[in-house]
Amino acid sequence: MASSGSSERAPKRPRTDEPVDEHLANSGPTNSSTVWFDDGSIVLQAENTRFRVHRTVMALNSPIFEDMLNIGQSRGEESVEDCPLVVLHDSAKDLETVLRALYDRRYFDDDKDQPFDTIASILRVSKKYDIQHLYEKALEYLTAEFPGTLDDWDSRSIRIPSFNNGHYFDVINLARELTLPIILPAAFYLCLQRYSCEQILGGIPNRTAGEVIRLSPSDQKVAIVGMRQVVCASAATTFEWLGQHHEVEGCSNRIACADAFHMTSHSIWKPFPSYAALCIWDVEWGKDMCKKCVAFAKRRHSKGREFFWTRLPECFDLPPWADS
Ligand SMILES: [Zn+2]
Repeated sequence: MASSGSSERAPKRPRTDEPVDEHLANSGPTNSSTVWFDDGSIVLQAENTRFRVHRTVMALNSPIFEDMLNIGQSRGEESVEDCPLVVLHDSAKDLETVLRALYDRRYFDDDKDQPFDTIASILRVSKKYDIQHLYEKALEYLTAEFPGTLDDWDSRSIRIPSFNNGHYFDVINLARELTLPIILPAAFYLCLQRYSCEQILGGIPNRTAGEVIRLSPSDQKVAIVGMRQVVCASAATTFEWLGQHHEVEGCSNRIACADAFHMTSHSIWKPFPSYAALCIWDVEWGKDMCKKCVAFAKRRHSKGREFFWTRLPECFDLPPWADS
């Protein structure tokens, strides 16, 4: 979709949204091999990569770019191949991802699964430059997997394939970076389901990148404290019925049903409590209960589960859902 142009000498006075990094300005920028349109009217530079794009396209998609380019036009500063040069302080990878998404609908087709890095790049840049339609599309990928309502949890879909074991750490770190509180309760809950204490505290090696993915120290504490919080909340909500067999009216076999309640309780809490408070009713739990007990337990389980969902954010020291 674009042809690569030749490298340009670093400008002496590039237009910039922030003070120029002398190291970057002097180390010889190169033109992007993917986003360089010969008929482009403006050159954007991020780190050491330049992108030749169209002023009108950028202004059409982003009010921030519109203002920035209008101001820049009146100032008339450094140019590259007769196009004004604008130096941005974004990562080249993030900016390239967004520019490709803006120019080629097939590149970010929201009918398809997308890699986490693509979602992260688009959220970062589209939030900063208020590219609303891209931001909303990218955010939908995250909220589909880490929803903000119980109904959405029950129809949860995973559209960001995770190629590394630290996926939930990546998601939490991104949510903190971009202030996306709505996805944090579900992301922390899934962390507890997937990771051990050792992994939460020590991080998880990412084989492909040769690095360790880890939560911030404060979020490690949130997750560890959250373990106990989730277990206590589970016992008081979703699984409260396990200790309420004596409340069942019309049980046809008191001894057998009480034993069934006890055995189910054992399977939930022993040898270690399971993080199962958002699980729907399991027919196995009721297979040795009478009909009255099954109806009672299912009803209490369903109500308790809804109550657990409302308490989920506070388990991780997060604001209530309504404030997310
Ligand atoms: Zn019974």
